[in-house]
Amino acid sequence: MIGHSLRWRLTAWYTLSLTLIVLLFASAIFIYVRYSLLFHVENLLRMNTDRIERVLAQNPKNLNQLDTQDGTELFQISDGEKIIYSTNGWQTSQLRFEVPTIPASGFGTGIAADGRRFYMRTVVVQAPNNKWIIAAAHHAAQIDQTLKSLATVLLIGCPIAITLALIGGYFLAGRMLAPIGSMAAKAKEISAHNLSQRLPVIQPNDELGRLATIFNDTLQRLEDAFTQLRRFTADASHELRTPLTVLRNVGENAINGVKDPQEYSEIIGSMLEEVERLTQLVEKLLLLTRADGDQTALNIERFLLAELAREVADCLQVLAEEKQQLISFQLQETISVRADRATLRLVLMNLLDNAIKYSPAHSAILINVYQTQTQAIVSIHDQGPGIAPEHQQKIFERFYRPDAGRARNKGGAGLGLAIAHWAAQINQAKIELESAPGTGSTFLLILPIA
Ligand code: ADP
Repeated sequence: MIGHSLRWRLTAWYTLSLTLIVLLFASAIFIYVRYSLLFHVENLLRMNTDRIERVLAQNPKNLNQLDTQDGTELFQISDGEKIIYSTNGWQTSQLRFEVPTIPASGFGTGIAADGRRFYMRTVVVQAPNNKWIIAAAHHAAQIDQTLKSLATVLLIGCPIAITLALIGGYFLAGRMLAPIGSMAAKAKEISAHNLSQRLPVIQPNDELGRLATIFNDTLQRLEDAFTQLRRFTADASHELRTPLTVLRNVGENAINGVKDPQEYSEIIGSMLEEVERLTQLVEKLLLLTRADGDQTALNIERFLLAELAREVADCLQVLAEEKQQLISFQLQETISVRADRATLRLVLMNLLDNAIKYSPAHSAILINVYQTQTQAIVSIHDQGPGIAPEHQQKIFERFYRPDAGRARNKGGAGLGLAIAHWAAQINQAKIELESAPGTGSTFLLILPIA
């Protein structure tokens, strides 16, 4: 199952960190409680030794009264070897110092003859001709018992808490990871044939929901790309089929009945025309395929727009002359731009070629180069049929022709403007169209001025 090992890993990490926290917390509690209890006992014993010291200094005979006072029933005064005074309780308990833990002055533990533990505090006081040691003791049993109970609670409680956390963590991780399992199962079902399916998005705002949304967006883009590719392939095949059919028909007719060399040369002429059309189509398809693959290396340089416009017009002059069209110019000669000259040439070639193709004979075409504050513009105006508003956006799509039959007669497959649009775009430029049926068309190539 998907997420299985992740589930265990999450649980393990969670339990491990919780164990560390619990152990740290338990140790801190134990240390703090022990320290507070000992601090309290030491204070108590300090008060006792202070009191004993005071009585010893004022009137040693009253020491036996201390014996009966609450909390001071266990003490002894010695000069290190000889016992000067010791209470009844001390004697019956037969208290021993734990020598290493009791220095001349200090706090530690002592053991009675019967094995009971005591906390002890000793102070060294100045006697008339010697130094005496006062040692006061307090039963350790109660504190030991409290600490033992606390330790028992912690030792039993911690493993129980950790086990519960482990079980809870495992279920929690399972719940959290369940959507990943269903997402993975769904993703597995999706292939090129059912790209319209989407992953379930349970909580769109949490991390998994966002992941599913991003994945779904990717699927959407994939689906769009696939649809576009399918359409492109279908359109391309369709466009390729027409000239091939013409070629075959013309060839078949020639074989079947033509004898005259003049007729042969006409047939070969029209076949070559179709071959030319095919070649151009294949070249355009190749160009668009490269464009899709982002494989175009741009050679950015500074050049004069007017020069480029004139060069393009020179190139297509023959076509215009064939239709006795007049190409005229209004060029601001000094406008220069930084761009890839070759691809911008392609844009203007396609725009001017269309202007010539779709305008009637004897009409005029005007090429303008001018600039605004931020833009350099090449406009190509023709006196053709114009383009209806509903087609103005779509003519930039691949294979789109408002009037397919008419365009084909003129040799177009509907790729010219798509190529021009792409070529402008990679130069950070755009193409705009101003046109209405009957008024001619103006295509504007608009470049930003750096
Ligand atoms: P094509 O290869 O068919 O010319 P384009 O992409 O260049 O393909 O143009 C798409 C369509 O836009 C053409 O079929 C034509 O109908 C229309 N079009 C383009 N330029 C002009 C123009 N200057 N005047 C009128 N129609 C045009």
